[in-house]
Amino acid sequence: MRIGFGYDVHRLAEGRRLVLGGVEIDHPLGLDGHSDADVLLHAVVDALLGATALGDIGQHFPDTDDEWRGADSRELLRIVVGKVQAAGFHVENVDVTIVAQAPRLAPYISEMRSSVADILGLDPARVSVKATTSEGLGFAGEGRGIAAHAVCLIREV
Ligand code: MG
Repeated sequence: MRIGFGYDVHRLAEGRRLVLGGVEIDHPLGLDGHSDADVLLHAVVDALLGATALGDIGQHFPDTDDEWRGADSRELLRIVVGKVQAAGFHVENVDVTIVAQAPRLAPYISEMRSSVADILGLDPARVSVKATTSEGLGFAGEGRGIAAHAVCLIREV
């Protein structure tokens, strides 16, 4: 067994879609970034790359590369799952915490879990997505950005 940890942050900006875990969220602001800025999936990607010690998301999908401009992060995660499998591992479970002051994410949790589970080829019971505010403190609390923390466990096949 190996454990991996991932962390990511994106700024909130006008004129952008808010996509978390591959699910579009209804909100006047979206996350800014080179790809679709899906902070949840980016944290999961880094957790998987961390568990396999295969580097980080920036090495695999450089933001200087036009190939990944506006990329659907579900595709990035699919590619990384392939790398994890090629390295001889199977994903056991993933646990994510999103830190966002707004919007309220509770109505989307179930859909986000299913979406992430689908990409990982897991039962949704093995994918946890949680959301918290930061009590108005820091960049997340001030509504300037959203952060995501993810841990995963992988097993050598
Ligand atoms: Mg990112």
